[in-house]
Amino acid sequence: MARVYNFSAGPAVLPEEVLKEAAEEMLDYRGCGMSVMEMSHRSKTYDNIIKEAEADLRQIMNIPDNYKVLFLQGGASQQFAMIPMNLMKNGVADYIVTGQWAKKAYQEACMYGKANKIASSEDKTFSYIPDCSDLPISPDADYVYICENNTIYGTKFHELPNTKGKTLVADVSSCFLSEPVDVTKYGVIYGGVQKNIGPAGVVIVIIREDLITEDVLPGTPTMLRYKTHADNDSLYNTPPAYGIYICGKVFKWIQKMGGLEAMKKRNEEKAAILYDYLDHSKLFKPTVEKGSRSLMNVPFVTGDDELDAKFVKEAKAAGLESLKGHRSVGGMRASIYNAMPKEGVEALVAFMKKFEAENLK
Ligand SMILES: *Cc1c(COP(=O)(O)O)cnc(C)c1O
Repeated sequence: MARVYNFSAGPAVLPEEVLKEAAEEMLDYRGCGMSVMEMSHRSKTYDNIIKEAEADLRQIMNIPDNYKVLFLQGGASQQFAMIPMNLMKNGVADYIVTGQWAKKAYQEACMYGKANKIASSEDKTFSYIPDCSDLPISPDADYVYICENNTIYGTKFHELPNTKGKTLVADVSSCFLSEPVDVTKYGVIYGGVQKNIGPAGVVIVIIREDLITEDVLPGTPTMLRYKTHADNDSLYNTPPAYGIYICGKVFKWIQKMGGLEAMKKRNEEKAAILYDYLDHSKLFKPTVEKGSRSLMNVPFVTGDDELDAKFVKEAKAAGLESLKGHRSVGGMRASIYNAMPKEGVEALVAFMKKFEAENLK
């Protein structure tokens, strides 16, 4: 068996321990004679799995009792619609557009009400996070929306925007559980798990209870109402059962590793190895302004498309997978999520140094 270092932006690397455990339990989950994939989501065994996953997530993130944790489907993209459908009571929301995902969320919200783009970093190809300390927040805004870590461009909000008292809604798909978070600062935190937590097919929504009401936009389908899922503890219909089980294992792994403080330390160490090299390289350049850099997604370029392609190809041959940048940006991107070991980043930098020596004209 040869495992590669997988730098994919998502679906992405998972802890090897978790995969091994899942493999061991594949045919017979803890003596029940069947796989978790095969069992009823109404069974006692499965109920324990989902309840324990929620309890562990609550412990890891220190989620207060007045927040619900929902395990849903439809990916992060479905939340682009669910959020306005459920939260736009006044029909108004403010969006900070820092990349493709925030832009898609903004465009979706425009279909349901008055969505205002109150800040953007599109002028410089989304290479920075705008100053959000004093934005023109709409007096009647139902919420202020951000994409906290911009997977494609490699930027991260290091300070949350001043929402002037309005509810903050954040897409944290690509920075979920990468560092400690103060849940009380948000009305809604959500993310697809396939970036930093588990297999594709699960989206986790952490939502303050007072935001879960019957007062939703007319025509909102039953399945797209937060209340439906909150009232049924994520078991209104069949949940993405196997995916949630794997998420639960990743939560246990994070606890064992020392929780979010330890994750942050580990992620900072890994990112520093790569950024330090990029800041000194004569061949590779980072594309993001220093104060806005993500710990999770690190885009970089040589400035020469052919050389970029050569790098991606040779890196792959050396066991460093999926380093090609997003199709909208080009260049390279190394996603170094929680489960990427430090050795993987070290191997990448060693390879980059070798490539630089061979290709610098
Ligand atoms: C990947 C990603 C999405 C889209 O997720 P899907 O689950 O494919 O819908 C949305 N937001 C961010 C920040 C992402 O990284």
